[in-house]
Amino acid sequence: MANAVRLHDEKAAVCSLEKLVWREGPVCPHCGETCRLGRLSGQSTPIGAWKCYACRKPFTVRHGTIFQNSHVPMHVWLQGLYLLVASKHRVSSQKLGQVLGVSVRTAWHLKTKIAAGLAAAEDYEEPQGAVRLLERVVREPIADDPAPLQPGQAVCKSRYERFLKAIENLADASSDALFLDALHQLLLPSSELERSSGILASGRGIEQQLELSLFDDGKRQMGGSRSPPREDGET
Ligand SMILES: [Zn+2]
Repeated sequence: MANAVRLHDEKAAVCSLEKLVWREGPVCPHCGETCRLGRLSGQSTPIGAWKCYACRKPFTVRHGTIFQNSHVPMHVWLQGLYLLVASKHRVSSQKLGQVLGVSVRTAWHLKTKIAAGLAAAEDYEEPQGAVRLLERVVREPIADDPAPLQPGQAVCKSRYERFLKAIENLADASSDALFLDALHQLLLPSSELERSSGILASGRGIEQQLELSLFDDGKRQMGGSRSPPREDGET
């Protein structure tokens, strides 16, 4: 099957997403160039960064989607989306934050943004002739690698272990299909969605601020005065 979506780390998640979005190969979202493009690979360059040598602008596959301008890694978004969809949106921000290793505030932000994105996509009619290829979700086994993990890898690995454990109880046979369907909806360019719905436009200003607390690990919980709303969902 084409375009398997992998969720275990950032590189895998970004590559999966690139295959989903750029079925014919990468396209510069600024000028439409498809040839003079290069993947940026400097040490401080974020995973998934590209440069267009026609218009000289950088871009990523997130451009034009609800994931644009987010500091939350793509694999965290995808794991969060899976958990939300598999739980029929009943997972609380607290639980989501625990599994993903992010602050409650960041988890609340992910939930809000995903719900708004899906609501906006509901009103959107796909252009005639849009093709959906077969896809599947891949759960990579966690390798017992004797080599010591780099700090970032260790965080990814333990997050993925928590994710797999969480979906053991949540997911059923329909979860993969629901996840892929939701992901497709969220990958619709937000500019097109805004034409059919104004929902995504709200709340964009507080996005950066909310994400500053990413990777809080419990030592520095919720310092701000603005708290996410209380929820009655599963904890
Ligand atoms: Zn360009």
